[in-house]
Amino acid sequence: MRDKKAHGAVDFMARLLWPPECPLEHVPVDRAGHLSPEGWAKLDFIAPPCCRSCGLPFAYEAAGAGEDGLLCASCIAQPPRFDWLRAPLVYDDPVKPLVLGLKNADRRDMLNVFARWMLRSLDGLVQEDAVLVPVPLHWMRLLSRRYNQAALLAQALGHELGCPVETGSLYRKRRTPSQAGRGTKGRRRNIAGAFAVRRPERLAGRQVILVDDVFTTGATVSACCRMIKNSGAACVGVVTLCRVVRDVDVTI
Ligand SMILES: [Zn+2]
Repeated sequence: MRDKKAHGAVDFMARLLWPPECPLEHVPVDRAGHLSPEGWAKLDFIAPPCCRSCGLPFAYEAAGAGEDGLLCASCIAQPPRFDWLRAPLVYDDPVKPLVLGLKNADRRDMLNVFARWMLRSLDGLVQEDAVLVPVPLHWMRLLSRRYNQAALLAQALGHELGCPVETGSLYRKRRTPSQAGRGTKGRRRNIAGAFAVRRPERLAGRQVILVDDVFTTGATVSACCRMIKNSGAACVGVVTLCRVVRDVDVTI
């Protein structure tokens, strides 16, 4: 009981010294991890109808939709390496502070909220044998940054789904320069051969769901999915917090 009181007092003092604020609007909010109404209004959530493969909302590419209206033009032209991809949020300027906060500033108070958004976007897609695999960082980058934001998202989502998170299998065997500022081809070349799988038996025959923060050109996701499929996974899905749906400045 005394511990609980002491903890409450520390929490009270912390809130006095560092009152929780909305990460988008920087106005006070009730609790850490909450958004203000103005912050909420800035977010562009993805809603059906979407491409059944890559999850692209059709409002952005209606003219390119397939005859059955279920596949987008780019998935018809070049089927992706994953079986499906979903993301709850459009990646645009208002969302950037959320992603950068998670990536650079050690800001974890939104993780549970992010996981619940991602969970909702996975409606009906997750199988009983699913295992979550975060897009890995090279160990040297992990040392300097201290944590991998994709692994944090995977752990929070794994908690919501009640399914295991496999962080030891997919790894980055080669350190790659940042993808920022590169086009689709440049990103693909930069990332080629960067990933490998150890202990493939942990993924073989199962539904593997790759987790990352942002889906941009698909170069990283594609390279990861290739290795996961080669390890014998029965199905490879992808879930990211947000995804690019139109031309934006990809400075992440
Ligand atoms: Zn598509």
